[in-house]
Amino acid sequence: MPTELTDYDPTLGNKFIFVTGGVMSGLGKGITAASTGRLLANAGFDVTAVKIDPYLNVDAGTMNPYQHGEVYVLKDGGEVDLDLGNYERFLDIDMTFDHNVTTGKTYQHVIEKERAGDYLGKTVQIIPHVTDDIKRRVREAAAGHDVCIVEVGGTVGDIEGMPYLEALRQFSHEEDDDDILFTHVTLVPYSKNGEQKTKPTQHSVKELRSIGLQPDVLVGRCDDKLDVQTKEKIALFCDVPVDAVFSNPDVDDIYHVPLMVEEEGLDEYVMAELGLSERATPPAERTTEWREIVTREATDTVEIALVGKYALEDAYISIHESLKHAGFETRTDVEVLWVDSEEMDDAHAARLERADGVIVPGGFGSRGTQGKIDAIRYAREHDVPFLGLCLGFQMAVVEYARNVCGFEGAHSAEVDAETPHPVIDILPEQYEVEDMGGTMRLGAHETEITAGTVAHDVYGDTSCTERHRHRYEVNPEYIDAIEREGLVFSGRADNRMEILELPRSDHPFFFGTQFHPEFRSRPGRASPPFVALVEASLTRRGGDDDRRGGEGDRRRGEEEQGEVTA
Ligand code: GLN
Repeated sequence: MPTELTDYDPTLGNKFIFVTGGVMSGLGKGITAASTGRLLANAGFDVTAVKIDPYLNVDAGTMNPYQHGEVYVLKDGGEVDLDLGNYERFLDIDMTFDHNVTTGKTYQHVIEKERAGDYLGKTVQIIPHVTDDIKRRVREAAAGHDVCIVEVGGTVGDIEGMPYLEALRQFSHEEDDDDILFTHVTLVPYSKNGEQKTKPTQHSVKELRSIGLQPDVLVGRCDDKLDVQTKEKIALFCDVPVDAVFSNPDVDDIYHVPLMVEEEGLDEYVMAELGLSERATPPAERTTEWREIVTREATDTVEIALVGKYALEDAYISIHESLKHAGFETRTDVEVLWVDSEEMDDAHAARLERADGVIVPGGFGSRGTQGKIDAIRYAREHDVPFLGLCLGFQMAVVEYARNVCGFEGAHSAEVDAETPHPVIDILPEQYEVEDMGGTMRLGAHETEITAGTVAHDVYGDTSCTERHRHRYEVNPEYIDAIEREGLVFSGRADNRMEILELPRSDHPFFFGTQFHPEFRSRPGRASPPFVALVEASLTRRGGDDDRRGGEGDRRRGEEEQGEVTA
């Protein structure tokens, strides 16, 4: 279980950047905030972040990916909003469950304290008891870091967000002026006649000011950069200097946002306001590693089929990002072909056939599992590089048990409780579990890797520590029978099977992990299994094109018009 909060030590000083959003959600407020953090880290500061999610859920663990996108898993097992994944990737840090503050957590804690009699008979209220708890959580997460970016989810004016904005208002009285900075991210749309419109921003700032918060910095999300006149108008109506108004225009790749933000000087402005300029590494001496990584030219392209059930990119965001990171490392442009495991119609099957590699991601329940099993069989029998993640690993075991070992009707007990061969079964510690929240096998656990295997080659080590999120595992009773037929369990944690593979002599790359390597991948440190998949896919594509004498590319070209990504 995630760590318990300890009491806050008020002597620990640091700087806070509070980020709120206006006009509408989904503006990329988190990316703007994470990009600012990246630049401060480049300037030599130790930066961390807190994401506030005003919903009543305690955590994101029980949330449907269709509504909220992927559930991101932290090393301590915290199941959190996908925005924390962006912070980990942009800042190259490991966060903990305490870095995600939710209304569920806060109220649960306050109510537990009330039941224990800790409030000594007082009336327990949103102000000050809930707001005190919010401030305590933010300060604790920030402790020991130079700068803490605190992003408030949702938009200003949402009922759920009110206690948080009130807590921030109090914060501004409790901290020195140069220790806190309020950044507000809004939308600057175009009118029909091509004019950048500032009224939505004005209204949003008005709303913020009515709560007692005056933004120090305004960032306008727009298709393009903000015109000077637009900035001047925003400055005038929102009572900030013109040089406190920044643009955040659309870019092709989120990893280019820090470069964009740097161009306008947001980082310098923020550091000056927070009194950090003198301590910062001089601009000419700052690391340019990020720029080098994310602007690397690709020399090749591969197409990877992602066989899942949520036709929504956010539901598999860490996988998409991991493929990008593997692309940075191998100088490859990785294109994802969306294959719906539930609707394996001709179009989806054609994408699977054209792909240079296949990923079957994690998931829960029975929907779409047959499509996943079929895709795995296809990859195995046609020598297509394959990476199975969590449920994808489990379905690879099912496929092998059925089609190679001859265990007719083999399945995971999660999908088919009546199967004669439950090759995937519930973890023993899950027998008695009744609550669905936070009760899986979660977070970072070590896997021991057998020397001389593909896994050893992939990780370059005889162990790895990756993040988990599952209730089921390979049934130990079937391990010997399955291995006798050639599948190798090359990574184990005691008697739990963590990695499966086919030897290179049998298949160019057939690899599965019970864990989720996608949660530890970073732009400069791509996850080894993803790099291995992309490399094997590159080899296959090269071979394909040679064999077909270029026909392969024509075949791809013809399909180009079809919608190929999720
Ligand atoms: N549903 C499977 C389990 O609970 C796989 C989980 C996953 O893919 N994250 O074990």
